[in-house]
Amino acid sequence: MSVEVRNITKTFGSFTALNNVSLNVESGELIALLGPSGSGKTTLLRIIAGLEFADPGTAQVLFHGEDVTNLPASQRRAGFAFQHYALFRHLTVFENIAFGLRVRPRATRPSEESIRERVTELLKLIQLDPLANRFPSQLSGGQRQRVALARALAVEPKVLLLDEPFGALDAKVRKQLRRWLRKLHDDIHITSIFVTHDQEEALEVADRVVVMNEGGIVQIGPPHEVYDRPANAFVFNFLGNVNLFQGRMDDGLMKIGDTELHVAENLGTSVSDATVYFRPHDVKVSTEPVGQESIAALIRHINLAGPVVRIDLERADTGSRFEVELNREQWQGIDRRVGDRVFVDLQRVRVFPTDHKTPLEDFSI
Ligand code: ATP
Repeated sequence: MSVEVRNITKTFGSFTALNNVSLNVESGELIALLGPSGSGKTTLLRIIAGLEFADPGTAQVLFHGEDVTNLPASQRRAGFAFQHYALFRHLTVFENIAFGLRVRPRATRPSEESIRERVTELLKLIQLDPLANRFPSQLSGGQRQRVALARALAVEPKVLLLDEPFGALDAKVRKQLRRWLRKLHDDIHITSIFVTHDQEEALEVADRVVVMNEGGIVQIGPPHEVYDRPANAFVFNFLGNVNLFQGRMDDGLMKIGDTELHVAENLGTSVSDATVYFRPHDVKVSTEPVGQESIAALIRHINLAGPVVRIDLERADTGSRFEVELNREQWQGIDRRVGDRVFVDLQRVRVFPTDHKTPLEDFSI
């Protein structure tokens, strides 16, 4: 079942929560709506669900090409699971999952035997079959989330809509559950849209990521594409750790402090104040300058915990701080101490015009 929204605008009083948003979700895709708080993700999900309606006008919501814009949630056959998984406390795990089937009108309600079969199948799918008779208070947070998902799936929705499905859980359980969600999706291929503000979650789980900001879609693409080719400075910043160097752009040359970088970007003649963006791991660090573009820096801190060595550096020319990440092998080849000087070559940079409205520090991370 494909899902399409066209020209969705949603205002609350004088505030525009969504501004002319259009999006196409292919049948069987797993899509992440990713963006900072207040960017409009939940509002868009609720409009797709039929729990909220777009401002009247040219807005349309289509399920499998069929116009459902004015249909209430109950007639759209979408399954939901929300951050506050709100299971029924007085019902067992089994009965929580069965709930959506039991409340169906008599004419469409499955037989007791089919309900039992369906719930048993779902309990296996979420790997909680031994806990069928427990009550929600006897489950861990991650187990409750899985029950909430099974409950959403029980009614055989055509579309699965998840709002921060793992929001309330600790980092480790979130990680386990997102792998589990990916696997579940690979097994059952139901068109799914989930809201998250966690870029790692979106990049790891989704087939395509929809990056939202201030009520609009900024970029749509597979995870590697939005990560490697961010459409603008906002996406670059939002999708991972980043260092910023402010400078001036002149005829393909970007001047930052004492260093001039040749950059691929051409920002046009009208832009001179520009900012270089680079990820902490997109660097080469050496003990001697490699060429004219090597940036001299002093080591201020070394963090050796974990698989990646994180080093805080201070530029010798401007004094501004930045962070680089090296794998242990690369670091062993350098082996310097705090206070020593190293040289950094930026391997992959993007240059965007400096945003004077919301200026960022040189060292952003
Ligand atoms: P979060 O990650 O914090 O949940 P979000 O991206 O999901 O954020 P929405 O919940 O879609 O954002 O809200 C978008 C904007 O619309 C916010 O500024 C919010 O305050 C506003 N908004 C949402 N629902 C209402 C409402 N019923 N009445 C007034 N304003 C609302």
